[in-house]
Amino acid sequence: MAKILVVGGSLGGLFAANILLRQGHDVTLLEKTVGSLDGRGAGIVTHDALAEALRAAGVTVDETLGVPVTKRVTLGADGQSLGEMELPQVLTSWSRLYHMLKESFPSERYLQGKTVKTVTQDENAVHVLCEDGSKHDAELLIASDGIRSAVRAQVAPQIQPKYAGYIAWRGVCDEACLSKYTLDTLFNRFGFCLPNGEQMLGYPVAGSGNDTRPGKRRYNFVWYRPASEHEELVSLLTDDDGHHYPTGIPPLKVSWKHIAHMRKVAQEILAPQYAEILEKTAAPFLQAIYDVRSEQIVFGRIALMGDAAFVGRPHVGMGVTKAGDEAIVIAKHIATLGATPAALNAYSDERLKVGQQVVARAQYLGRYMQAQGSKGNRDNEKLKRNADTVMAETAIDISELLAKGKAVPESAH
Ligand SMILES: Cc1cc2nc3c(=O)[nH]c(=O)nc-3n(C[C@H](O)[C@H](O)[C@H](O)COP(=O)(O)OP(=O)(O)OC[C@H]3O[C@@H](n4cnc5c(N)ncnc54)[C@H](O)[C@@H]3O)c2cc1C
Repeated sequence: MAKILVVGGSLGGLFAANILLRQGHDVTLLEKTVGSLDGRGAGIVTHDALAEALRAAGVTVDETLGVPVTKRVTLGADGQSLGEMELPQVLTSWSRLYHMLKESFPSERYLQGKTVKTVTQDENAVHVLCEDGSKHDAELLIASDGIRSAVRAQVAPQIQPKYAGYIAWRGVCDEACLSKYTLDTLFNRFGFCLPNGEQMLGYPVAGSGNDTRPGKRRYNFVWYRPASEHEELVSLLTDDDGHHYPTGIPPLKVSWKHIAHMRKVAQEILAPQYAEILEKTAAPFLQAIYDVRSEQIVFGRIALMGDAAFVGRPHVGMGVTKAGDEAIVIAKHIATLGATPAALNAYSDERLKVGQQVVARAQYLGRYMQAQGSKGNRDNEKLKRNADTVMAETAIDISELLAKGKAVPESAH
């Protein structure tokens, strides 16, 4: 039994902590937030590998995981279908996964209000100092502390998030308040709408209390829109009192002026079904989209995983699945090689290139959206072809492509 510290108590950290605890290790998780992390994030696309990681973490996976859909559809600006395709998937939510993983992990091992400040290591151990003055030692440290990882900032300060040039408006709208037209033509599908250089997508998720009954569900949307880094993005990340949040604006602080403008543009360029969803979503919020690509994810007794290691733009729809896969691989090598730097190196050998491929594929999918210019949208045939590709490639299971090293098609190199 080894002493292992996990930094970050969101989905990635909870996967690692649960799996390592079940292997018999003495695991302590350090999370900076006090209180529940719930309320962040919205919809998550599931893949088989995600279900596997949940089971490894001790979670029972059954039909309550999420809402099943069988089809994808792309809507034109007039609301008519530009094309459909069969693609069965189960859509869940961040909160659902968080609660399942949190309930699996003993609360006395999940320490809150622990903001990791410094991390040092010697031949035998890692030493952590938190902002509250507490000190923690362990044989290994697994850092899943997110895109702005404090651990990564110490071991690899050169790895920085790079802004992708666009933001995502996100939110969830109650099924009960939608018109029959939107329910009939969109609600039960994974839907897309492709205005020039932009992309809207959405799908149904469980409603309050994880209710998946018809009438009680919600529609989750993500609308990607370009925003210049030094003007538009700064303005979008500034609240109505003039306070700027460079690393992300809290959902309830998003300016009503930006929300009103976003809804107005939605009426002009999106399918009416999506415009209605945006109009009726109580609290839309926004996130800037970044890439994080690491050249190294293991530093002696310290490993980076989850968003601390790699962030692929959400088009690839596998941030959570990737974190679950990484936790499984870390635990597998610790089981064979012990809680040693060798085990972490074996994790790096298996996962470094996979993480880099995920980032590359997400950039490829983003380029596709950004390249869809006005010419394409005037040419109906071209738009249909574009819709077919976007539906076939966005947020699908790419485990086989990753295994073959072909996450990005040759033609895109
Ligand atoms: C628009 C959008 C849509 C997405 N859609 C999908 C999807 O469909 N499917 C999917 O799989 N993924 C999706 N993702 C990605 C997904 O949300 C993340 O990849 C996933 O949560 C894994 O992150 P993580 O646990 O490593 O880090 P995070 O979730 O960022 O958690 C990091 C944790 O570390 C804590 N922390 C930070 N600093 C410190 C510190 N110094 N000390 C202690 N604790 C600290 C934080 O409080 C937080 O709890 C989407 C993301 C976006 C932006």
